[in-house]
Amino acid sequence: MTQPPFPSTAHSSACTCALHARRLFTGGLLAGGALLAWPALAREGVEVGARSSFANIVSADQIEQAAGQQYRQMQQQASQKNALAPADHPQLVRLRAIAQRLIPYTYEWNERARQWRWEVNLIGSKQINAFCMPGGKIAFYYGILDQLKLSDDEVAMIMGHEMTHALREHARERMGKTMATRGAIEIGAALLGLGGGGRLAADMGGQLLTLQFSRDDESEADLVGMELAARAGYDPHAGVTLWQKMAAASQGAPPQFMSTHPSGPTRIKDIEKNLPKVEPLYARAARPEQRFEPPKPQARPASANDRPSN
Ligand SMILES: [Zn+2]
Repeated sequence: MTQPPFPSTAHSSACTCALHARRLFTGGLLAGGALLAWPALAREGVEVGARSSFANIVSADQIEQAAGQQYRQMQQQASQKNALAPADHPQLVRLRAIAQRLIPYTYEWNERARQWRWEVNLIGSKQINAFCMPGGKIAFYYGILDQLKLSDDEVAMIMGHEMTHALREHARERMGKTMATRGAIEIGAALLGLGGGGRLAADMGGQLLTLQFSRDDESEADLVGMELAARAGYDPHAGVTLWQKMAAASQGAPPQFMSTHPSGPTRIKDIEKNLPKVEPLYARAARPEQRFEPPKPQARPASANDRPSN
């Protein structure tokens, strides 16, 4: 059975835990005395809002399993088209090196991430796109590296952004919302294992690749992603140049990425405003030992001019 990833910390009034017992006790002893409250321990870094309760409609296990299946399918399809970069492709080596630096800082945002089997793959496609599915399944499309000529710092920003969607369970929340509004009887039966569960998993998996995040999710992904990158030793100012490049690439036909990641008009301003919160983290962070270059012209994987079909 599954258990909630974020156990409730609320205490009932009848609670007899040590914390409350002690409070009752000192309350008696110190009644009437002037107590100095400890200042709340401020967490260093960015601030985000509370999770939506819609996330609880679908279990984390279920959605991670569905994502894993979908990811495997995508890999197979790309591989059949010779569009899955081999492990020694310089840009895949680069992506995996950057991911390895960020991953240790993800645990703070979601305990489950310690157990995830994180994966990073590079898809031979001209599309400007990247994603991280629930459970830490990351893919970059070659076009985002090639067309935007991303620096390592900018790659780290995108990766942190995508990881945040998975860590903060934005897909789980969106699907919960969809299900809540789509008449829950059939779905409820499926979730309880009364049939249709397999179809539901496939359905969820299918949705994962086309899921459109909300602007709030986007803003959260920008900020938390920036913090992950800064802690991993990547310059958070790259958030500004990255989105400038993305905006420039959006003239005319917006990249696939922008359709699933809607940006508000204040995206770059919000990133700039939050830079002071992560600059100290970056200043203290160990710098990456290895630096990589963006793709050189004509280094693209062979026969990789389109995305794998769904
Ligand atoms: Zn996003």
